[in-house]
Amino acid sequence: MALIPLEDARAYVLEACRTLAPVSMPLAQALGRVTAVAVVSEEAVPPFDNSAMDGFAVRAADTATAPVSLAVVATLAAGEAPSAEVGPGQAVRIMTGAPLPPGADAVIMVEQTAPGHDGASVEIRMVVAPGTACRRTGDDLAAGDVVAAAGVVLSAGHLGVLASVGVTDVTVFPPARVGVLSTGDELVTGSGPLRPGQIRDSNRPTLCALVNQAGCQAVDLGTVVDDEAAITEAFTAAASTCDAVVTSGGVSMGDFDLVKVVLDRLGDMRWMQLAIKPAKPFAFGVVGTTPVFGLPGNPVSSMVSFELLARPALRKMTGFPSSAWRRPAVAAVADEDLDRRPDGKTHFVRVVATVGDDGRHHVRSAGGQGSHHLSAMAAANALAVLDLGGGGVAAGASVPVLLLEAP
Ligand code: AMP
Ligand code: MG
Repeated sequence: MALIPLEDARAYVLEACRTLAPVSMPLAQALGRVTAVAVVSEEAVPPFDNSAMDGFAVRAADTATAPVSLAVVATLAAGEAPSAEVGPGQAVRIMTGAPLPPGADAVIMVEQTAPGHDGASVEIRMVVAPGTACRRTGDDLAAGDVVAAAGVVLSAGHLGVLASVGVTDVTVFPPARVGVLSTGDELVTGSGPLRPGQIRDSNRPTLCALVNQAGCQAVDLGTVVDDEAAITEAFTAAASTCDAVVTSGGVSMGDFDLVKVVLDRLGDMRWMQLAIKPAKPFAFGVVGTTPVFGLPGNPVSSMVSFELLARPALRKMTGFPSSAWRRPAVAAVADEDLDRRPDGKTHFVRVVATVGDDGRHHVRSAGGQGSHHLSAMAAANALAVLDLGGGGVAAGASVPVLLLEAP
Protein backbone atom coordinates (compact mmCIF):
# COMPACT_ATOMS: atom_id res chain seq x y z
CA MET A 1 0.00 0.00 0.00
CA ALA A 2 1.40 3.42 -0.98
CA LEU A 3 2.08 5.72 1.95
CA ILE A 4 -0.28 8.71 2.03
CA PRO A 5 1.19 12.20 2.60
CA LEU A 6 0.11 13.72 5.92
CA GLU A 7 -1.33 16.80 4.19
CA ASP A 8 -3.63 14.65 2.03
CA ALA A 9 -4.95 12.74 5.04
CA ARG A 10 -5.46 15.94 7.02
CA ALA A 11 -7.30 17.63 4.16
CA TYR A 12 -9.54 14.56 3.82
CA VAL A 13 -10.36 14.59 7.53
CA LEU A 14 -10.97 18.35 7.70
CA GLU A 15 -13.28 18.20 4.70
CA ALA A 16 -15.41 15.53 6.38
CA CYS A 17 -15.71 17.32 9.74
CA ARG A 18 -18.33 20.06 9.89
CA THR A 19 -18.49 22.89 12.39
CA LEU A 20 -21.24 22.31 14.96
CA ALA A 21 -24.33 24.54 15.06
CA PRO A 22 -23.98 27.55 17.38
CA VAL A 23 -25.78 27.65 20.72
CA SER A 24 -26.52 30.33 23.28
CA MET A 25 -24.82 29.89 26.64
CA PRO A 26 -24.39 31.88 29.84
CA LEU A 27 -21.26 33.98 30.06
CA ALA A 28 -20.02 31.94 33.03
CA GLN A 29 -19.70 28.87 30.78
CA ALA A 30 -18.24 30.63 27.78
CA LEU A 31 -14.54 30.85 28.63
CA GLY A 32 -12.57 29.50 25.67
CA ARG A 33 -15.63 29.21 23.45
CA VAL A 34 -15.65 30.81 20.00
CA THR A 35 -18.21 33.49 19.14
CA ALA A 36 -20.48 32.56 16.25
CA VAL A 37 -21.80 36.09 15.70
CA ALA A 38 -20.42 39.49 16.55
CA VAL A 39 -21.59 40.95 19.85
CA VAL A 40 -22.54 44.64 19.60
CA SER A 41 -22.80 46.79 22.69
CA GLU A 42 -26.15 48.43 23.41
CA GLU A 43 -24.59 50.54 26.14
CA ALA A 44 -21.72 52.95 26.64
CA VAL A 45 -18.90 52.16 29.05
CA PRO A 46 -18.44 54.00 31.32
CA PRO A 47 -22.18 54.71 31.38
CA PHE A 48 -21.64 58.21 32.90
CA ASP A 49 -18.83 60.74 33.40
CA ASN A 50 -17.05 59.76 36.62
CA SER A 51 -14.02 60.36 38.75
CA ALA A 52 -10.77 58.43 38.17
CA MET A 53 -9.47 59.39 41.62
CA ASP A 54 -10.40 59.89 45.24
CA GLY A 55 -10.28 63.66 45.66
CA PHE A 56 -12.34 66.77 44.96
CA ALA A 57 -14.51 67.58 41.97
CA VAL A 58 -13.93 71.22 41.00
CA ARG A 59 -14.25 73.80 38.26
CA ALA A 60 -10.80 73.71 36.63
CA ALA A 61 -10.90 77.51 36.21
CA ASP A 62 -11.02 77.89 40.02
CA THR A 63 -7.59 76.21 40.34
CA ALA A 64 -5.78 78.78 38.15
CA THR A 65 -4.70 80.70 41.26
CA ALA A 66 -3.71 77.63 43.33
CA PRO A 67 -3.15 77.33 46.18
CA VAL A 68 -6.77 78.26 46.63
CA SER A 69 -9.46 77.48 49.20
CA LEU A 70 -12.81 76.06 47.97
CA ALA A 71 -15.99 75.42 49.94
CA VAL A 72 -16.85 71.71 50.22
CA VAL A 73 -20.59 71.48 49.53
CA ALA A 74 -21.14 67.69 49.43
CA THR A 75 -19.55 64.23 49.50
CA LEU A 76 -20.16 61.76 46.70
CA ALA A 77 -19.41 58.02 46.96
CA ALA A 78 -19.37 55.50 44.12
CA GLY A 79 -22.94 54.33 43.55
CA GLU A 80 -24.53 57.63 44.57
CA ALA A 81 -26.24 60.08 42.26
CA PRO A 82 -24.98 63.69 42.54
CA SER A 83 -27.00 65.71 45.04
CA ALA A 84 -25.28 69.09 44.67
CA GLU A 85 -23.94 71.19 41.84
CA VAL A 86 -20.39 72.53 41.98
CA GLY A 87 -20.66 76.30 41.74
CA PRO A 88 -17.79 78.81 41.40
CA GLY A 89 -15.53 78.62 44.46
CA GLN A 90 -16.98 75.25 45.45
CA ALA A 91 -15.85 71.61 45.49
CA VAL A 92 -17.46 68.21 46.11
CA ARG A 93 -15.49 65.51 47.92
CA ILE A 94 -15.61 62.56 45.49
CA MET A 95 -14.58 58.88 45.45
CA THR A 96 -13.23 56.92 42.50
CA GLY A 97 -16.09 55.84 40.24
CA ALA A 98 -18.60 58.35 41.61
CA PRO A 99 -20.43 60.39 38.96
CA LEU A 100 -18.98 63.78 38.19
CA PRO A 101 -21.41 66.33 39.72
CA PRO A 102 -22.91 69.01 37.46
CA GLY A 103 -20.71 72.09 37.21
CA ALA A 104 -17.46 70.20 37.85
CA ASP A 105 -15.07 69.58 34.98
CA ALA A 106 -11.99 68.22 36.78
CA VAL A 107 -10.95 66.20 39.82
CA ILE A 108 -8.02 67.04 42.08
CA MET A 109 -6.45 63.95 43.65
CA VAL A 110 -6.68 63.99 47.44
CA GLU A 111 -2.87 63.99 47.71
CA GLN A 112 -2.82 67.49 46.15
CA THR A 113 -5.22 68.93 48.74
CA ALA A 114 -5.31 69.74 52.44
CA PRO A 115 -8.34 70.06 54.74
CA GLY A 116 -9.35 73.67 55.39
CA HIS A 117 -9.06 75.00 58.96
CA ASP A 118 -12.80 75.69 59.22
CA GLY A 119 -13.72 72.01 58.52
CA ALA A 120 -15.95 73.04 55.59
CA SER A 121 -13.35 73.93 52.99
CA VAL A 122 -10.43 72.35 51.19
CA GLU A 123 -7.14 73.83 50.07
CA ILE A 124 -6.32 72.97 46.47
CA ARG A 125 -2.56 72.93 45.80
CA MET A 126 -2.50 72.21 42.10
CA VAL A 127 -3.55 73.89 38.86
CA VAL A 128 -5.49 71.46 36.65
CA ALA A 129 -6.86 71.57 33.12
CA PRO A 130 -10.50 70.69 32.39
CA GLY A 131 -10.95 66.91 32.14
CA THR A 132 -8.21 66.04 34.63
CA ALA A 133 -8.92 62.71 36.37
CA CYS A 134 -12.33 62.47 34.67
CA ARG A 135 -13.45 59.30 32.88
CA ARG A 136 -15.89 60.26 30.13
CA THR A 137 -19.05 58.42 29.12
CA GLY A 138 -18.23 55.85 26.43
CA ASP A 139 -14.48 56.35 26.38
CA ASP A 140 -14.00 52.56 26.69
CA LEU A 141 -16.97 51.50 24.54
CA ALA A 142 -19.70 53.44 22.78
CA ALA A 143 -23.18 52.04 22.18
CA GLY A 144 -23.00 50.29 18.78
CA ASP A 145 -19.36 49.26 19.14
CA VAL A 146 -18.43 45.64 18.41
CA VAL A 147 -17.44 44.12 21.75
CA ALA A 148 -16.38 40.77 20.31
CA ALA A 149 -16.23 39.99 16.60
CA ALA A 150 -17.40 36.63 15.24
CA GLY A 151 -14.70 33.96 15.51
CA VAL A 152 -13.15 35.31 18.68
CA VAL A 153 -11.93 32.82 21.29
CA LEU A 154 -13.41 34.26 24.48
CA SER A 155 -10.83 35.10 27.15
CA ALA A 156 -11.34 36.14 30.76
CA GLY A 157 -11.06 39.75 29.62
CA HIS A 158 -13.72 39.27 26.95
CA LEU A 159 -16.13 37.86 29.54
CA GLY A 160 -15.56 40.96 31.63
CA VAL A 161 -16.12 43.39 28.79
CA LEU A 162 -19.29 41.52 27.77
CA ALA A 163 -20.55 41.70 31.34
CA SER A 164 -19.68 45.41 31.40
CA VAL A 165 -22.25 46.07 28.70
CA GLY A 166 -24.94 43.89 30.27
CA VAL A 167 -24.52 40.80 28.07
CA THR A 168 -25.50 37.66 30.02
CA ASP A 169 -25.59 35.05 27.23
CA VAL A 170 -23.48 34.63 24.12
CA THR A 171 -23.96 32.77 20.86
CA VAL A 172 -20.96 30.48 20.53
CA PHE A 173 -19.92 27.18 19.03
CA PRO A 174 -20.37 24.40 21.56
CA PRO A 175 -17.39 22.22 22.42
CA ALA A 176 -17.48 19.03 20.37
CA ARG A 177 -18.36 16.11 22.67
CA VAL A 178 -15.71 13.58 21.80
CA GLY A 179 -16.05 9.97 22.89
CA VAL A 180 -12.72 8.35 23.75
CA LEU A 181 -12.56 4.57 23.50
CA SER A 182 -9.67 2.13 23.95
CA THR A 183 -9.69 -1.27 22.30
CA GLY A 184 -7.71 -4.36 23.12
CA ASP A 185 -7.88 -7.54 25.23
CA GLU A 186 -4.55 -6.64 26.84
CA LEU A 187 -5.80 -3.44 28.49
CA VAL A 188 -6.32 -2.99 32.22
CA THR A 189 -7.78 0.15 33.79
CA GLY A 190 -6.42 1.42 37.09
CA SER A 191 -4.08 -0.19 39.58
CA GLY A 192 -5.16 -3.83 39.72
CA PRO A 193 -2.60 -6.62 39.23
CA LEU A 194 -1.49 -7.34 35.67
CA ARG A 195 -1.84 -10.90 34.42
CA PRO A 196 0.82 -12.08 31.97
CA GLY A 197 0.50 -10.15 28.71
CA GLN A 198 -1.63 -7.37 30.12
CA ILE A 199 -0.74 -3.68 30.11
CA ARG A 200 -2.45 -0.63 31.54
CA ASP A 201 -4.62 1.57 29.39
CA SER A 202 -2.59 4.77 29.17
CA ASN A 203 -4.07 6.08 25.94
CA ARG A 204 -7.51 6.84 27.28
CA PRO A 205 -6.54 9.32 30.02
CA THR A 206 -4.05 10.92 27.64
CA LEU A 207 -6.51 11.25 24.80
CA CYS A 208 -9.27 12.53 27.10
CA ALA A 209 -6.86 15.20 28.32
CA LEU A 210 -5.80 16.12 24.78
CA VAL A 211 -9.47 16.42 23.78
CA ASN A 212 -10.21 18.74 26.69
CA GLN A 213 -7.04 20.72 26.08
CA ALA A 214 -8.14 21.17 22.45
CA GLY A 215 -11.18 23.08 23.72
CA CYS A 216 -13.53 20.11 23.24
CA GLN A 217 -15.29 17.96 25.81
CA ALA A 218 -14.04 14.42 26.36
CA VAL A 219 -16.52 11.64 27.09
CA ASP A 220 -14.69 8.67 28.61
CA LEU A 221 -16.18 5.57 27.00
CA GLY A 222 -13.88 3.07 28.70
CA THR A 223 -12.19 0.07 27.10
CA VAL A 224 -13.69 -2.55 24.88
CA VAL A 225 -12.34 -6.07 24.49
CA ASP A 226 -11.53 -7.65 21.15
CA ASP A 227 -14.99 -9.11 20.69
CA GLU A 228 -17.17 -8.36 17.71
CA ALA A 229 -20.43 -7.86 19.60
CA ALA A 230 -18.77 -5.70 22.27
CA ILE A 231 -17.01 -3.55 19.69
CA THR A 232 -20.22 -3.16 17.68
CA GLU A 233 -22.16 -2.08 20.74
CA ALA A 234 -19.45 0.32 21.87
CA PHE A 235 -19.10 2.09 18.52
CA THR A 236 -22.85 2.21 17.88
CA ALA A 237 -23.45 3.85 21.25
CA ALA A 238 -20.48 6.17 20.84
CA ALA A 239 -21.54 7.37 17.39
CA SER A 240 -25.11 8.06 18.51
CA THR A 241 -24.24 9.97 21.68
CA CYS A 242 -21.11 11.93 20.69
CA ASP A 243 -20.19 14.51 18.06
CA ALA A 244 -17.01 12.56 17.25
CA VAL A 245 -15.26 9.42 18.42
CA VAL A 246 -11.55 8.89 19.02
CA THR A 247 -10.42 5.32 19.39
CA SER A 248 -6.97 3.86 19.77
CA GLY A 249 -5.67 0.44 18.85
CA GLY A 250 -6.73 -2.02 16.24
CA VAL A 251 -5.98 0.08 13.17
CA SER A 252 -2.53 -1.19 12.20
CA MET A 253 -1.74 -3.75 9.51
CA GLY A 254 -1.03 -6.73 11.75
CA ASP A 255 -3.99 -6.20 13.98
CA PHE A 256 -6.62 -8.49 15.18
CA ASP A 257 -9.16 -7.42 12.60
CA LEU A 258 -12.26 -6.91 14.67
CA VAL A 259 -12.23 -3.10 14.98
CA LYS A 260 -11.80 -2.96 11.21
CA VAL A 261 -14.51 -5.50 10.55
CA VAL A 262 -16.98 -3.71 12.79
CA LEU A 263 -16.22 -0.15 11.67
CA ASP A 264 -16.35 -1.18 8.02
CA ARG A 265 -19.79 -2.63 8.64
CA LEU A 266 -21.06 0.32 10.70
CA GLY A 267 -19.64 3.15 8.65
CA ASP A 268 -17.66 4.44 5.75
CA MET A 269 -14.02 4.13 6.80
CA ARG A 270 -10.71 4.69 5.11
CA TRP A 271 -7.75 2.71 6.47
CA MET A 272 -4.54 4.54 5.77
CA GLN A 273 -0.81 4.15 6.04
CA LEU A 274 0.67 7.64 6.34
CA ALA A 275 4.15 8.77 5.31
CA ILE A 276 4.97 9.80 8.89
CA LYS A 277 6.83 8.36 11.85
CA PRO A 278 5.53 7.70 14.42
CA ALA A 279 1.79 7.17 13.78
CA LYS A 280 1.85 5.51 10.35
CA PRO A 281 -1.47 3.64 10.69
CA PHE A 282 -4.54 5.86 10.76
CA ALA A 283 -8.19 5.30 10.06
CA PHE A 284 -10.90 7.84 9.53
CA GLY A 285 -14.50 7.69 8.50
CA VAL A 286 -18.05 8.39 9.53
CA VAL A 287 -20.50 6.20 11.36
CA GLY A 288 -23.90 7.70 10.62
CA THR A 289 -22.80 11.32 10.50
CA THR A 290 -20.29 11.00 13.35
CA PRO A 291 -16.61 11.31 12.47
CA VAL A 292 -14.52 8.44 13.87
CA PHE A 293 -10.77 8.77 14.30
CA GLY A 294 -8.93 5.45 14.50
CA LEU A 295 -5.58 6.21 16.08
CA PRO A 296 -2.75 3.72 16.44
CA GLY A 297 -2.44 1.91 19.76
CA ASN A 298 1.16 2.69 20.56
CA PRO A 299 1.03 5.46 23.15
CA VAL A 300 3.34 7.95 21.45
CA SER A 301 1.76 7.22 18.08
CA SER A 302 -1.72 7.84 19.41
CA MET A 303 -0.65 11.22 20.80
CA VAL A 304 1.16 12.30 17.63
CA SER A 305 -1.73 11.08 15.49
CA PHE A 306 -4.16 13.04 17.64
CA GLU A 307 -2.01 16.19 17.38
CA LEU A 308 -1.61 16.03 13.61
CA LEU A 309 -5.00 14.73 12.49
CA ALA A 310 -7.71 14.68 15.15
CA ARG A 311 -6.95 17.95 16.92
CA PRO A 312 -7.26 20.22 13.86
CA ALA A 313 -10.55 18.56 12.87
CA LEU A 314 -12.02 18.67 16.38
CA ARG A 315 -11.08 22.34 16.65
CA LYS A 316 -12.76 23.00 13.32
CA MET A 317 -15.91 21.26 14.64
CA THR A 318 -15.72 23.44 17.77
CA GLY A 319 -15.68 26.60 15.67
CA PHE A 320 -12.08 27.71 16.08
CA PRO A 321 -10.81 29.87 13.22
CA SER A 322 -8.60 27.92 10.80
CA SER A 323 -5.53 29.79 12.05
CA ALA A 324 -6.06 28.04 15.40
CA TRP A 325 -6.57 24.50 14.14
CA ARG A 326 -2.91 23.54 14.19
CA ARG A 327 -0.22 23.93 16.80
CA PRO A 328 2.01 26.92 16.17
CA ALA A 329 5.08 26.22 14.04
CA VAL A 330 8.41 27.97 14.61
CA ALA A 331 11.93 27.63 13.28
CA ALA A 332 14.23 26.40 16.05
CA VAL A 333 17.96 25.79 16.45
CA ALA A 334 18.89 22.14 16.94
CA ASP A 335 21.26 22.14 19.92
CA GLU A 336 22.31 18.59 19.09
CA ASP A 337 22.20 16.29 16.08
CA LEU A 338 18.70 14.98 15.43
CA ASP A 339 19.27 11.76 13.52
CA ARG A 340 16.94 9.84 11.30
CA ARG A 341 16.98 7.19 8.64
CA PRO A 342 15.94 8.20 5.12
CA ASP A 343 12.75 6.15 4.81
CA GLY A 344 10.39 8.32 2.77
CA LYS A 345 8.51 9.48 5.86
CA THR A 346 8.31 12.77 7.75
CA HIS A 347 9.64 12.18 11.25
CA PHE A 348 8.18 13.96 14.26
CA VAL A 349 10.96 13.93 16.84
CA ARG A 350 9.96 14.48 20.46
CA VAL A 351 12.01 17.42 21.67
CA VAL A 352 12.27 19.84 24.56
CA ALA A 353 12.09 23.42 23.30
CA THR A 354 13.47 26.37 25.25
CA VAL A 355 13.87 30.02 24.39
CA GLY A 356 17.57 30.94 24.44
CA ASP A 357 19.28 34.19 25.38
CA ASP A 358 19.36 34.90 21.63
CA GLY A 359 15.54 35.01 21.71
CA ARG A 360 15.31 31.96 19.45
CA HIS A 361 13.78 28.58 20.14
CA HIS A 362 16.30 25.82 20.78
CA VAL A 363 15.55 22.10 20.84
CA ARG A 364 17.09 18.91 22.18
CA SER A 365 15.80 15.37 22.02
CA ALA A 366 13.38 14.60 24.86
CA GLY A 367 14.71 11.03 25.12
CA GLY A 368 13.83 7.67 23.59
CA GLN A 369 12.18 8.04 20.19
CA GLY A 370 10.40 4.68 20.11
CA SER A 371 6.63 4.80 19.68
CA HIS A 372 6.29 3.18 23.13
CA HIS A 373 8.57 5.76 24.84
CA LEU A 374 5.73 7.65 26.47
CA SER A 375 7.88 9.22 29.18
CA ALA A 376 9.97 11.01 26.52
CA MET A 377 6.75 12.19 24.89
CA ALA A 378 5.57 13.43 28.29
CA ALA A 379 8.86 15.31 28.77
CA ALA A 380 8.60 16.85 25.28
CA ASN A 381 6.88 20.16 24.66
CA ALA A 382 7.43 20.19 20.91
CA LEU A 383 7.79 18.01 17.84
CA ALA A 384 10.72 18.66 15.50
CA VAL A 385 9.70 18.02 11.91
CA LEU A 386 12.32 16.15 9.88
CA ASP A 387 10.93 16.18 6.40
CA LEU A 388 10.40 13.30 4.01
CA GLY A 389 13.72 13.12 2.28
CA GLY A 390 17.26 12.80 3.49
CA GLY A 391 18.93 12.44 6.81
CA GLY A 392 18.64 14.27 10.07
CA VAL A 393 19.50 17.76 11.22
CA ALA A 394 23.01 18.64 12.38
CA ALA A 395 23.66 20.51 15.61
CA GLY A 396 23.43 24.25 14.98
CA ALA A 397 21.10 23.92 11.99
CA SER A 398 17.56 25.28 11.84
CA VAL A 399 14.68 22.84 12.17
CA PRO A 400 10.91 23.43 11.96
CA VAL A 401 9.16 22.67 15.22
CA LEU A 402 5.52 22.32 16.27
CA LEU A 403 5.02 23.77 19.74
CA LEU A 404 2.72 21.56 21.83
CA GLU A 405 3.11 23.86 24.82
CA ALA A 406 4.68 27.28 25.26
CA PRO A 407 8.34 26.70 26.24
P1 AMP B 1 -2.58 -1.95 18.21
O1 AMP B 1 -2.63 -0.68 17.43
O2 AMP B 1 -3.88 -2.37 18.77
O3 AMP B 1 -1.91 -3.04 17.42
O4 AMP B 1 -1.63 -1.66 19.44
C1 AMP B 1 -0.29 -1.31 19.24
C2 AMP B 1 0.42 -1.28 20.57
O5 AMP B 1 -0.19 -0.30 21.40
C3 AMP B 1 0.34 -2.55 21.36
O6 AMP B 1 1.58 -2.74 22.05
C4 AMP B 1 -0.79 -2.33 22.31
O7 AMP B 1 -0.71 -3.11 23.46
C5 AMP B 1 -0.60 -0.86 22.64
N1 AMP B 1 -1.84 -0.24 23.05
C6 AMP B 1 -3.04 -0.33 22.41
N2 AMP B 1 -3.98 0.35 23.07
C7 AMP B 1 -3.37 0.90 24.15
C8 AMP B 1 -3.81 1.71 25.23
N3 AMP B 1 -5.09 2.12 25.29
N4 AMP B 1 -2.92 2.08 26.17
C9 AMP B 1 -1.63 1.67 26.10
N5 AMP B 1 -1.15 0.92 25.10
C10 AMP B 1 -2.01 0.51 24.14
MG1 MG C 1 -4.96 -3.91 19.70
